[in-house]
Parts: sequence; C-alpha cells; structure tokens
Amino acid sequence: IPSALEQIKETINEKSVELLHLQFVDIEGILKHITVTSEQLEDIVEGKMMFDGSSIKGFSPINRSDLYLQPDLATFTILPWTQEEGYAEARFLCSVMNPDGTLFEGDTRNVLKKTIERAADKGYTISVGPELEFFLFKTDANGYATQEISDRAGYFEPSPFDLGERVRLEIYRALKAMGFTIEASHHEVAEGQHEISFKYSDALTAADLSTTYKWVVKTIAHKFGLHATFMPKPVFGINGSGMHVNMSFFEGSENAFFDPSDELQLSEKAYQFLAGLLDNVKSFAAVTNPLVNSYKRLVPGYEAPCYIAWSASNRSALIRIPAKKGLATRVELRCPDPSSNPYLTFAVIAAAGLDGIEKGLEAPAPINEDIFHMTEEQRAILGIDNLPGSLTEAIKELESSDFVYNALGEHVYSEYVAAKKAEWDSYRTAVHAWEIENYQSKF
Ligand code: GLU
Ligand code: MG
Ligand code: MG
Repeated sequence: IPSALEQIKETINEKSVELLHLQFVDIEGILKHITVTSEQLEDIVEGKMMFDGSSIKGFSPINRSDLYLQPDLATFTILPWTQEEGYAEARFLCSVMNPDGTLFEGDTRNVLKKTIERAADKGYTISVGPELEFFLFKTDANGYATQEISDRAGYFEPSPFDLGERVRLEIYRALKAMGFTIEASHHEVAEGQHEISFKYSDALTAADLSTTYKWVVKTIAHKFGLHATFMPKPVFGINGSGMHVNMSFFEGSENAFFDPSDELQLSEKAYQFLAGLLDNVKSFAAVTNPLVNSYKRLVPGYEAPCYIAWSASNRSALIRIPAKKGLATRVELRCPDPSSNPYLTFAVIAAAGLDGIEKGLEAPAPINEDIFHMTEEQRAILGIDNLPGSLTEAIKELESSDFVYNALGEHVYSEYVAAKKAEWDSYRTAVHAWEIENYQSKF
C-alpha cells in the first residue's frame, strides 16, 4: 500500500496541483493560510515552514515569534472550485509547532488534541456531530455584505421561494468532493437561513470539518454574489444560527452512552456526562458563545436555549437526547453557536463531560415541559438556572473558572480572557443604533 505521502504526490501529479495552502486557525477559530508551490511538498511535510506568530491573534509575543507549521496529511484535499484543465490548488490543515518541535500551546487545534489524549487515557474516543447554521445576505456593488437577506423562504421551503437552493447545491458538491459525507441540506426557519448537515466523526476531524465547512460555505456563496455569515444573531426578531454539538464517548467499538435497560436507553456514564455539562456550562459559555452578539440569540422564543436544563425531546432545553439509539446514542448540547472556535468548543464540552464522569455527578430530573412558557417562579421551584445573559456575565464566570483554565491550558486561557475583556469593553463604550433611536429625540 502506498503511504499517505506517496498518495498525495500521486494526486498532485494527476490533478496538476500547482499551489498548496498551509492552513491553521487563530484563537477565535478564524482560518489563516500561507501558500507554497507543490515543488515544496517535501520540505513542508517535514515541518520546515516558519511564520511570524506575533501577527496572529492569541499566538506568541513579539520576542518569541518564530513558529512552524506541521501539515496534517489526513487533511490534504483539492479545492474543487480552483480546478481547471491542467491546474488546481490544494490545502493542508496544520498544527502549529514550537522551534524545538513540541506542540505550540497557543494553537487551539493542539488544545483539542490534548483533550482527546486525556479522554483516551480514560479509555474513551470522542465522537462529534456538529450542526452549523448560516445566513445568506446580498452584497453591494463592491462585493461587501449588505443587510438585505437573500430570500423570504422559511423552514424546508423549496425553490422558487428558497433562492439559496442553487448555492446549497454547489456547496454540497464542493464539500462532497472534499471528502465530507453530507446527510441533508435544507432551508432553515428564518428568512435567508440555511443548514447543510454532515456525518459525525472523531473530535479532531469534526473540528477540522467545521472549520473547512465555514470556509467553503463563504467561498461558494461569494461566487454567487452572496455573503454567508455564521454570526449567531444577524437579524433581530427571527431565529439565530446555532451550532448544536452532538457528542458521545466510545469504548472500543461500543457506544459508552447506550444502555438498552434504561428508560431512555442511556448509560450511567451518559447521565454523568450530561450532569458535567450542566455543571460547567456557565463557566464555558464564553467559549461556546464567544461574541457580544451570541447572547442576543440565547433569548426565549427562537429555538435557542437560555435555561440550564435537559430533556429527551424538548427543543427549549439546553440539552436534548435525540431519539436515535444504539451506536447513535448521543447528547445534543444546543447552546454553542457557529461563531465559536470549534476546536475550543469541542474541547470544553468533552472536558466538562469527562469531569462529570470522573466525579460521578448525578443528573437532575429531565424537564419535559416547555420552559419558555414557565414563569420565573416555576423555574425557581424546579431549580432551573439561566445561562449567562450577556458576554460580560459569561466572562465573569470564565475568569473564575479553574475548570476552563485546566481545559484550555494557561496560554490559551489567558489570551482568550484578555481578548474577550477587550471585546466587551469596546462594545460597552460604543454608542449603538438602539440608543440613538430610543434616546436622541426623547431627551
Ligand atoms: N436556529 C436554532 C438555534 O438558534 C436551532 C434550530 C434547529 O433546531 O435546528 O439554535
Ligand atoms: Mg437546524
Ligand atoms: Mg439539532
């Protein structure tokens, strides 16, 4: 059998790949890349590509700025939209390395790798199925995003109402050519909102796929003169975009969350895992819901959670147990949004679940009534707490959390806290359109 590298060389020759993009993400999960020619393949797989880490958000200080890129051969893929007769481009996702060859601790992909190792030490592999929603907006003559939504269709509506159908078809084709297993594609509830779902995989692959998905969606939308956004709540008064995270732990080939003898067919470990999520969610919300705007999605009435509770079916709850059982048994966390860094989001969720299992936490009773329609008093009686109501509340929880500190490591944790505090301060001191509208003429 030819090695992975030999196979890559073969593809490069066969498809006339001229350029290779070496990709990685910054602390916010924003994709970056540096491009080389395919003649440099041998050097770059040996990790010889150096770059200036001081210009990447959350990376290294200016006095220790030399970092290296180590391409992950499993992530090699042709970029289908670049392909033409005798020409193509391809990419690798990379891990960022220190000059001494150790994993750079500021790279969030490395943070997730460490979490995966921690789980493996306990005998678990982590399986993740994320669901990323997005909006399509029209662009102006310069190609920049406008605030005009691309269509007026709603949930599952077909064309001609759904003007995004052609765009989704092209996105689907590109993703498929890049190795995604696509499960479904549909118009979402809100105007101009869409979702294309892909099959679950191991945690690192799922984070790589999520990062790639966001890039491909934006790239193809751009070709149609549209702007795709993963901003969580782009329009007031209609649904926002979530990134539900379905997670399960496997022990060998067995799903550790499945127990046919339980009423909900959940194992004790599954209950401990979800208890760990409920216990830690306030402290990791600033990771799974990282923006000022994230908290405008987490309000009652839009299929997004705002209360800390779980249920077998209830879509108003934070955690849902999807009906599929057996190997597909999983816990769905509904608060994360697609503006979050998937490497960090999957790392904190897995770490919270592990925490629940390690401590043997007990899950509270499920809440099967519609929580959105309960009064504050009813919720208090049932012991249902709220998710943080704003980024500043979430930052306060984050700042005092040993759990998140341990899950992210010193470097990423301190850079992340500092970045979020600066972001909040910039928002706090700005004067917003709402203030002008409500105060300018009245006072
Ligand atoms: N758009 C909803 C959210 O903000 C989720 C809708 C769904 O269940 O797919 O999370
Ligand atoms: Mg959806
Ligand atoms: Mg879902």
